[in-house]
Amino acid sequence: MRPPIIHHPDYQAPLRDDHRFPMSKYGYLREELIRGGLLKPGGYIAPTPATAAELARVHAADYVSRAFALTLTDAEMRKIGLPRTERVVRRARLSAAGSVLAGLLALEAGVACNSAGGSHHAGPEGGAGFSTFNDLAVAARALQARGVIRRALIFDCDVHQGDGTARIFADDDSVLTVSIHAQKNYPFEKARSDIDVGLEDGLTDAPYLEAVRATLDAALARGPFDIAFYNGGVDVHSEDRLGRLAITDAGLMARERLVLRRLRGAGLPVATALGGGYGPDPRLIAARHAALFTAAAELQGMSG
Ligand SMILES: [Zn+2]
Repeated sequence: MRPPIIHHPDYQAPLRDDHRFPMSKYGYLREELIRGGLLKPGGYIAPTPATAAELARVHAADYVSRAFALTLTDAEMRKIGLPRTERVVRRARLSAAGSVLAGLLALEAGVACNSAGGSHHAGPEGGAGFSTFNDLAVAARALQARGVIRRALIFDCDVHQGDGTARIFADDDSVLTVSIHAQKNYPFEKARSDIDVGLEDGLTDAPYLEAVRATLDAALARGPFDIAFYNGGVDVHSEDRLGRLAITDAGLMARERLVLRRLRGAGLPVATALGGGYGPDPRLIAARHAALFTAAAELQGMSG
């Protein structure tokens, strides 16, 4: 069976053509998944926008209400790096709701994939680094509030440190935060996750995969967990514009298989979010993101 895929056409919000954020990757990813037989046309599950109350479980209520009202300050908007528009806020709310839905569906199906999210730089006080709301943090707290999980693992392989996630759960033992990132990359002032692995620039597939494997073991040793959330940022790729590592397409595919198999092998439901991926050709970025959905489908025993 295919893993449930959570998607919404409004994951893609209009930006200036020359904006650094490759917004069109969401639409191209949907097309890529359909082409690869991973998604039937229209066969995705669409979220409805997260409410202010859901978002205020991890962010200051004042920040959430000002984000909704489009009244964040210029300094706050610069930190986020996205324009102050209704569509961008709607996108962030949908993306957070999509990760909540991925969490709920993973509890039933074993694996569920949000085709957006991984906005891990948003912290308790507000957004940063293309992250308005921290979707995986919102999801962990939403599932706890519903009483369907107690303890969660957030396993973050995006090339940038999950600093917002680390700060949200700094004093909360019910969510273990793990980040494997390029040490010299953004954010330059690192937060403290429960487990941080800062990698050297230019790292290649074999030592990278070894680091991921060792970190999975270290994280699972700190269980038990009721669910794992996985941020599968593809900005570890050698050709990524914002990455500093040298991971190949094959290395990326191997990472997705390794992470999903190990977490599922430990008996955990796994909900995935997209994370970062940057470059001039959004089709290439979308193809890199598709590896995670391929690995998820393999795990669910889907053939062809
Ligand atoms: Zn990133």
